[in-house]
Amino acid sequence: MLKFWFITGSQFLYGEETLKKVEEDSKKIVDGLKLPFSVEYKLTAKTAGEIESIVKQANFDEDCVGIITFCHTFSPSKMWINGLTLLQKPWLHFHTQFNESIPNDEIDMDYMNLHQSAHGDREHGFIGARLRAPRTVVAGYWGDPAVQEKIAQWQRACMGARFSKNLKIVRFGDNMREVAVTEGDKVEAQIKLGWQVNTWPVGSLVKEMEKVTTPEIDALVNEYKKLYDINTDDEKSIRYQAREEIAIEKILIREGAHAFTNTFQDLYGMEQLPGLAAQHLMHKGYGFGAEGDWKTAGMEGIIKAMYPDGASSFMEDYTYDYKHELILGAHMLEVDPSIAADKPKIEVHPLGIGDRQPPARLVFEGKAGKAKALSLVDMGGRLRLIAQDVNCEKPFQDMPNLPVARTMWRPEPGFLEGLECWIIAGGAHHTVLSYDITEQALRDFARIMDIELVVIDKNTTPISLERELMLSDVLYNRR
Ligand code: MN
Repeated sequence: MLKFWFITGSQFLYGEETLKKVEEDSKKIVDGLKLPFSVEYKLTAKTAGEIESIVKQANFDEDCVGIITFCHTFSPSKMWINGLTLLQKPWLHFHTQFNESIPNDEIDMDYMNLHQSAHGDREHGFIGARLRAPRTVVAGYWGDPAVQEKIAQWQRACMGARFSKNLKIVRFGDNMREVAVTEGDKVEAQIKLGWQVNTWPVGSLVKEMEKVTTPEIDALVNEYKKLYDINTDDEKSIRYQAREEIAIEKILIREGAHAFTNTFQDLYGMEQLPGLAAQHLMHKGYGFGAEGDWKTAGMEGIIKAMYPDGASSFMEDYTYDYKHELILGAHMLEVDPSIAADKPKIEVHPLGIGDRQPPARLVFEGKAGKAKALSLVDMGGRLRLIAQDVNCEKPFQDMPNLPVARTMWRPEPGFLEGLECWIIAGGAHHTVLSYDITEQALRDFARIMDIELVVIDKNTTPISLERELMLSDVLYNRR
């Protein structure tokens, strides 16, 4: 079972009685944390040896997702150097205190010796800074829900990081011919993010499709019928999509992969571009990228690992309405129904691209609400994750001749400036649209993975952004 480890810092200076109390209080804190992923109190560390040993265990333990440290008393930080320099798991320094306020009558020198976070934890903070250790610092009373929410967002970033380090991405076919932004250094991506990005011939998928049985297709079509309204008589096309989905998923399971790409330019031996198939696989939690876009596929998988019940999708900025200041987001087919405002419909329509039969797809409108558009681009020597705040709105026109899943949004800091910022940062036309991810979780994730993060929000201007990117180039020693 996946766990976060809670380690309390102390020392022998204050005697056994104090150490007993430190342990009791630490356990109460851990019990009082209401978080999406469980936390286990591991120990009160009193020596360099204990710290080094617990860090080595955390590194080695597959189920340890990250460590949370807190110094109840003063815990001299030279003791922490050898351990922390070995640490390979994400670290949160929880700058809390057992008591919320200072008791008037109770406070005496014993109390002062026990409740020392205000200075003991600064020693801990110094060594984190001195080591330049990547860490998330959360300050506040442990019982405060707002404080706990910060730990929760860090936990989600850690879950994303863990998923990323184990992620395998299956590519059916290459990137779309001549397209730049969907390209990238797969070796760099594996070094930084852990992704194993490899290709499988489309022929192997076709072979797998041929092996799919009628009962398997029946079962999946029944599932479609439970989840979606059928708005077509073309059962054959729906069944063909089911065949594709089953075959793709079998290969993903066999390879231990949680994301995949395909491309309409390489459908050799296939009758339809996977539409409904790709959409339902996203619904199941697989990351997906069209046109060979493995970077968006990987990010999509990570967001789903961070927010398993959330709303996120592969998305494409398609066309603008300058008058209403909105971007129409859609794709040929492949938008995840987790962002749907209402029950999606299965429809079959011709596709003006790819030279294949009309594919079944889910048609729906995306829900209104605040979201972030995420794009991972390769800047040559480094990966840049761009995140823009967007406000999704219900599409204001029916668009009866555009039978695809679609949504509309207005980017921050405003429509035109938002577009300018996105273009200046080099953001792709493909994104992951996430309704759940917070800025903190993004920053935590980028820090853990050691990649560049560019945030475009209500406070960004094209001029401030340009300056930030220039500084960033200096930082990464690349101009
Ligand atoms: Mn596309």
